[in-house]
Order: sequence, then structure tokens, then C-alpha cells
Amino acid sequence: MLMEHASDRSRTWLIAHGDETVPAAQLARFDQLVGRRQAGEPMAYLLGSREFRGLRIGVNPAVLIPRPETECLVEAALARSPMGCHIIDLGTGSGAIALAMAHARPDLHITATDQSPQALAQAQANAKVLGLHRQISWRLGRWWAAVPSDQRFDLVLSNPPYIAALDPHLVQGDLRFEPREALVGGPDGLADLRAIVAGAAARLKHDGWILLEHGFDQAAAVRQLLSAAGFDPVCTLSDLAGLDRVSLGRHNRP
Ligand code: GLN
Repeated sequence: MLMEHASDRSRTWLIAHGDETVPAAQLARFDQLVGRRQAGEPMAYLLGSREFRGLRIGVNPAVLIPRPETECLVEAALARSPMGCHIIDLGTGSGAIALAMAHARPDLHITATDQSPQALAQAQANAKVLGLHRQISWRLGRWWAAVPSDQRFDLVLSNPPYIAALDPHLVQGDLRFEPREALVGGPDGLADLRAIVAGAAARLKHDGWILLEHGFDQAAAVRQLLSAAGFDPVCTLSDLAGLDRVSLGRHNRP
């Protein structure tokens, strides 16, 4: 894969031309990529993209690499999106959730936010490449501060930072290279989930849903936050690995 990237040739081409010498510039690029990989840098950053629900999502070290477990959030959201409804994706990062929703359903109107200008630029660039930019409006800002206070949505989606600050996983694998502000949700990992839930009821239309991704061991805590904020019913869905991954609640007050 790194050779494909360094030479800009397909795997098939490389195999068919196995006896050719690699030009020096390509070899230098390849060696550099191999060195970075050996130092642990994630493949997605080296290649500049990762696939999410069949879409090629451009990434850079300012955004979290899209994860397969987040497809669970998208599936659940699609099942609860009435025709032509308005959705907000809070902390969109690479834009994976917003882009997957827009691609699956051209009727949806989507607002996507991020506090990081670099992340928002990457998400916007991805939307352009995928031809989905007309369906999505982008807003810079932290959680609800990014949108006007009188705007109402049918669906609130977020995959916020939810790892606890001292979680040992942060110093292992891909997580070492990903933006800390996209991973860590305060001392207990729930700080951003709390901030999102706190502002959600005021931004949701009657019968609208909030869907939140969280850690495998945070389901009870997130359901508790949602119930305390008046959401009813509240439930949790598991991802393809069978882990509690998304909790949701319906806003049924006027
Ligand atoms: N699911 C990611 C992980 O555990 C974390 C993503 C997040 O904090 N939103 O690697």
C-alpha cells in the first residue's frame, strides 16, 4: 500500500512491472513512508485517507481517523431521519458522519460543526471531492456555541471525545498520533458528552432524537445523562463487535 502511494501506481501495475527499477524519487518517498510507519504512525495518515461506509474520507493529523464502530451511529441515525429533515453533526472532524448521511440520503439537510479550523477545512475538502458540499453547512465552534441559539434540528448526532484523560490506551497504537482534543473528554471521559446533552433539548424539535457515540463502558452513564435531561425513551445500541456504542434518546417535550 505504501509503494502504491509512493509511486502513484496501482497494485496490479506494480505486480505486472515487478522487474522494473523504481525511480529514485519514488524510492526516497517510499523509504520515508516506511520509516514513519515503523515509528507507529497510522496507515490512514500516511495514505491520507480511510474508507468509511464505502466513502474515501481524507484525513490529516488534525482529525480522528474514522472508525468502523461509528457506522453504528450512522445506521441508527438513518433509521430515524424523516424525509428532508435537518440534522446536526457536532464535532464532525473529518466529516465522516455528515458525509455518510448526506451520501446515503440526498434529501437530508446537514449542519456540521467543529472547534478546529483545520478539521473543518478537511471535512469541507472531503465534501467537495465527494460532491456532497451542497447538502452540508459548516460551522466553526465548540459544541452548541457553533450554531445560532434559535436553530432547531430533527436529529442531533455526535461522536465526541470520550476517553478518560489517564486512559492507558492513549499511549498505545494509533491513538498516540491522533489529536488529543478529539479523544479525551475530561478526567472521566464524559465532559463533552455532558456539554452536548446539556444543550440538546433546547435545540431539538418535538419528537427529535439525539444519538451519541461513547465508550463501551459508558452506556449506563450516558443513558443517565439523557434521562436526567428529560429524554424519553432512552436506549443503547451495540456495534458490530457487540459492544455498547451508541445511546439515544427522544425529545418529547414541546
Ligand atoms: N472510538 C475511539 C477509540 O476508542 C475513540 C473515539 C472518540 O473518542 N470519539 O479509539
